[in-house]
Amino acid sequence: MATDYDETRPEVKDSQDRSLEALQSANAPDARSVVTALEETDVLDEGLVPGGEIVAEELVVQVIPQAEDEFSCYSCFLVRHRSQLARESNGHLYCIECES
Ligand SMILES: [Zn+2]
Repeated sequence: MATDYDETRPEVKDSQDRSLEALQSANAPDARSVVTALEETDVLDEGLVPGGEIVAEELVVQVIPQAEDEFSCYSCFLVRHRSQLARESNGHLYCIECES
């Protein structure tokens, strides 16, 4: 019995180490998933609009600064050259492609 008991313990320890390693290696992606899920849940819980598109739009505006000879079409939201400006209505600019 004593021999069996001694042989079992290292195996148990070894399997504990392995499961710990498995947990640690598995925790990295899981933690990110949990954080992402929590952030999404927080947005919903606070009653805010899930702003993926809005954030992306703002980022595009920031990343691509609008030059003086360019305008953002109010219909397709693309930055166009002034030569492609077809119409201005209520302060909103429309490109020739949207007006054609
Ligand atoms: Zn347009």
